[in-house]
Amino acid sequence: ASVVRPDASDLERAAEAALRPRRLDEFVGQHVVRDQLSLILDAAAGRGKAPDHVLLSGPPGLGKTTLAMIIAAELGTSLRVTSGPAIQHAGDLAAVLSSLEENEVLFLDEIHRLARPAEELLYVAMEDFRVDVVVGKGAGASAIPLSLPPFTVVGATTRAGLLPAPLRDRFGFTAHLDFYSAEELERVLSRSAGLLGVPLDAEAAGEIASRSRGTPRIANRLLRRVRDWAQVRGDGRLSLEAARAALEVYEVDPLGLDRLDRAVLTALCMRFGGGPVGLTTLAVAVGEEPETVETVAEPFLVREGLVGRTPRGRIAMPAAWEHLGLTAPAASGT
Ligand code: ATP
Repeated sequence: ASVVRPDASDLERAAEAALRPRRLDEFVGQHVVRDQLSLILDAAAGRGKAPDHVLLSGPPGLGKTTLAMIIAAELGTSLRVTSGPAIQHAGDLAAVLSSLEENEVLFLDEIHRLARPAEELLYVAMEDFRVDVVVGKGAGASAIPLSLPPFTVVGATTRAGLLPAPLRDRFGFTAHLDFYSAEELERVLSRSAGLLGVPLDAEAAGEIASRSRGTPRIANRLLRRVRDWAQVRGDGRLSLEAARAALEVYEVDPLGLDRLDRAVLTALCMRFGGGPVGLTTLAVAVGEEPETVETVAEPFLVREGLVGRTPRGRIAMPAAWEHLGLTAPAASGT
């Protein structure tokens, strides 16, 4: 997979674990969310009670899992981890819930992917700290209420809008994580370099940060690739030269675009005169599935103002021509 995609494999998550901030004051950026969370956590600690349930929403790689771990650490309690797709039946969730200890934090990743029956069970558990255990089948079945100790659910979702309103309403607080500025990513990078014990020059940090798409996960991944280059082909120092050379090997351009992103832009400008062109036609031109173009390449291209979506298809924005070093054709009469 390309080095600038926001998702992580299981193997990569293991490498990431070493770089995770453990406390709120080590967590870089996201000032508003940090401030709001620290208030909630301090208040709960003061009362000696579990805080309200917290929903974390935002794109992959911005620190949702990290924040869930921090919440548990700040509360001095343990974290139980599961995810929407991992829970196949309501009974699986009932088992997890009924094994929670007092004030524990339950992290539910990809909470928007919970199946309906599990979701309904979760509402009740979050509101009344109770699960109804169904005994028997058919007409003779009965529900035995089982009360649970107080606990806190930390839910994570890439889009809070995907959650049904009744579930969303059970969260006392929703934190929206936003993409990081280049300056914040530089701080993530120097912190990570320190933990890895590698010397990172300030210019190199700036160069890596500007190609990391506002995403700490991508910044840390590019840092590991630059470290490899410096170790194998350089003198061990993560200099600007090492950063540029390594990122060239991995075909990450100055905006953080990879080969597929550039292929899409080039096709759009050179073959289709800047569009509008339909998604399927565009995908055929770059030899990819339409879904890949739409879900893998397009979100960042649209976010960066390089590609526009119109009812008649995709169009190249002025920044796309500029990025490719091309001159946009003179606008035809509108
Ligand atoms: P996913 O939804 O794909 O699981 P996520 O939003 O949960 O992504 P994390 O796994 O928390 O993302 O973060 C990815 C990596 O980025 C981790 O190594 C983490 O340490 C680092 N990271 C994320 N946010 C920050 C931050 N604010 N400060 C420092 N490092 C961060």
